[in-house]
Amino acid sequence: TLAAPASADLFEIRPTDTPVPAATREAALASPKFGTVFTEHMARISYRDGEGWHDRRVEKYGPLHLDPATAVLHYAQEIFEGLKAYQHADGSVWTFRPQANAARFARSAHRLALPPLSEADFLGSIAALVATDRAWVPSGEETSLYLRPFMYASESFLGVRPSLEAEYLVIASPVGPYFSGGLKPVSIWVDQEFHRAGAGGTGAAKCGGNYAASLLPQQNAYAKGCEQVCFLDATTNTYLEELGGMNVVVVGADGSASTPPVSGSILEGVTRGSILQLLSDAGHEVNERPIPLAELRAGIEDGSVAEVFACGTAAVVTPIGRLASDDFDLTVGDGGTGAVTGRIRSELTDIQYGRATDRHGWLHRL
Ligand code: PMP
Repeated sequence: TLAAPASADLFEIRPTDTPVPAATREAALASPKFGTVFTEHMARISYRDGEGWHDRRVEKYGPLHLDPATAVLHYAQEIFEGLKAYQHADGSVWTFRPQANAARFARSAHRLALPPLSEADFLGSIAALVATDRAWVPSGEETSLYLRPFMYASESFLGVRPSLEAEYLVIASPVGPYFSGGLKPVSIWVDQEFHRAGAGGTGAAKCGGNYAASLLPQQNAYAKGCEQVCFLDATTNTYLEELGGMNVVVVGADGSASTPPVSGSILEGVTRGSILQLLSDAGHEVNERPIPLAELRAGIEDGSVAEVFACGTAAVVTPIGRLASDDFDLTVGDGGTGAVTGRIRSELTDIQYGRATDRHGWLHRL
């Protein structure tokens, strides 16, 4: 039975008039490619200055009708979040630290001058949507329902000032294991030309514009034969920041783990924070400190750096097997998945899928 929190009760459920046949749904659930299949409904709340948030509802998934002058299309006043719902062996469905996503969403809204959305509305919208589209939560190993809450400036007005109207929506997408052939190390291009975010900019917010700025560097990385980009700090071009959509962790041969600090220009990942806690619990020394690229290069070369991995909600933990740029091309360790990387990934997914004790109280039942 689904015990949805009371805030979900505030959402009016308006079921689709064209339900997807069960057989079609099962086929879509069989091998979903990341971000291509969506459930039948979406949660939605509208905002108007003076009126506040109103019209909490779950309605049929479908296109948005936007006036060409809608503010978001011109000035990118938009934010989003990403989290997953996991089905456990007993059939119950859970999210992982959704309060952390709600808090980050509130911080992003503040930075983008969008109206604040309460934690109760954030959690309630997710609970109401997942309850309505319960049949779309996949049950296979390492599968989940990816949830994408987002908010955009919906006022039709071309002046450059915060929008007086906003829309908040949650859409959901069943996803399979990120890597079908098991955990596969990725190659990283360290970009020494372009930056993702600067001091005082929007790097710590999850706003669409940050991702738009990362696409050209990402395209360049592909052209160089790498799968992902790692950005350096924009002030000194010296220190590691993060990947386009994941945080980065360096593991020393002595077992210590280091990751760039939350400086204002990187996103404070929920996965990052959880992994630092699990590493610390397991007796690893954990350091949040600026990591010079030169130190990382030297460490990979002399063996004092044993493993490097990236972490984020979508792919959980991704080993980095190769680090390259214009002036170097290095294999990390033996280029495979390091012991600490593999172990921390299992520890985290065991908690998320209910296979291990949730000793930190990170799971939230839907
Ligand atoms: N950095 C960036 C730029 C991201 O987009 C993400 C994904 N949200 C992360 C880090 C990892 O954050 P999380 O662990 O909360 O998914």
